[in-house]
Amino acid sequence: MAVNLLDFDLEGLAAWCEGLGEKRFRAVQLFRWIHQKGAGDFAAMTDLARSLREKLQQHAEIRALPVFGEQRSADGTVKWLFDVGGGNAVEAVFIPEADRGTLCVSSQAGCAVGCRFCSTGHQGFSRNLSTGEIVAQLWHAEHSLRRALGLAPPERAIDNVVMMGMGEPLQNYAALVPALRVFLDDHGYGLSRRRVTVSTSGVVPMIDRLREDCSVALAVSLHAPDDTLRESLVPLNRKYPLAELLAACRRYLDRAPRDFITFEYCMLDGVNDSDEQARALVRLAAGQGPAGEAWPRVPCKFNLIPFNPFPASGLKRSPRERVLAFAAILQDAGIVTTVRKTRGDDIDAACGQLAGEVLDRTQAAERLARRRVDVPLVAAPSNAPAPGRGRSLASTVGSAPSTTTPAGARSAA
Ligand code: SAH
Ligand code: SF4
Repeated sequence: MAVNLLDFDLEGLAAWCEGLGEKRFRAVQLFRWIHQKGAGDFAAMTDLARSLREKLQQHAEIRALPVFGEQRSADGTVKWLFDVGGGNAVEAVFIPEADRGTLCVSSQAGCAVGCRFCSTGHQGFSRNLSTGEIVAQLWHAEHSLRRALGLAPPERAIDNVVMMGMGEPLQNYAALVPALRVFLDDHGYGLSRRRVTVSTSGVVPMIDRLREDCSVALAVSLHAPDDTLRESLVPLNRKYPLAELLAACRRYLDRAPRDFITFEYCMLDGVNDSDEQARALVRLAAGQGPAGEAWPRVPCKFNLIPFNPFPASGLKRSPRERVLAFAAILQDAGIVTTVRKTRGDDIDAACGQLAGEVLDRTQAAERLARRRVDVPLVAAPSNAPAPGRGRSLASTVGSAPSTTTPAGARSAA
């Protein structure tokens, strides 16, 4: 079977090219064609010798993920549903903001952690994605957005990647790290370490390894100020309780590109949203455990996420006033706290809540077949006339008034 070149970081590609008798600079050229120019076949790579292109055609491919559907929200959010075979699909979501464009990427089909409030967790675990399948999400999103927005390098659509889609990235470590390297590589997507975030439910040994191997920004899904509650929400807490998790966060900061950890906290009505629980978080952040014991102090920011409800969870979203009161307690204690805006609600694309419905995994194939019909497919932009610069993506499908700036567009400089 042909080798998928999306599976390689630059070092891996150089080693593979060496096996073909090609020098390293050829691997750099090839890597740039794939990731910077979005080439999907070798014929376009005109500055490579014909003999090399023929070898590539024989032995390799750039294996994009088949797209089941692409949905665009009125607010500019775009969600892709990718087919990863065997009746499984994963999603990636583009979230345009005034000053940046973020892509939320999946690392697994399903997830084995099984958090109570997460619909991916309720689906169970299907399989790890390969490096190529993780990279293919950014490859497809970046280059299709560039075509749709009429962007030419050095302009790019995505300058921020968050591993906050489906799956627990630190339980797919071997595939994750080369993918992160492709995101960071100057010959690849050239993203800053500060703008690539791994979000984890707290796989302590892998937090330590990430610090050594590829320290990007770290977000930790906290969701509770004490072990009893956290165990009931995030089962992994039984294996790696809070004191150990916070110690790993503290160690991570020695090498991290940012001087804080982002704690994510999903706001669940009557479960983890009381004033007392906010005060307990303030004490945790200051290095005081639930019984007043000394714990590692972790410089942090909080990101409060309004819960995206789904019936099987039996949980409710905290009322807006509760979220604001909770945030105020953290803020008054000097902790920078943001409340995540819900985006793409109309296409069910809130980051971290990527599977719109929870169904038995045995029915996955049937579900996908149904989605083929349900998800409105937007015509592939490649052969459509590029929309004029200065039009938002939403406006290209006529679902929102046109604006003067492409929401996700900016220079890579
Ligand atoms: N497995 C990793 C990354 C994927 S989940 C993790 O847990 O961190 C990304 C974020 O979405 C996590 O903070 C998770 O807690 C949050 N999330 C999951 N389900 C959600 C829901 N139903 N509503 C709101 N946020 C949710
Ligand atoms: Fe897995 Fe993260 Fe969902 Fe928990 S919140 S089940 S770790 S994807």
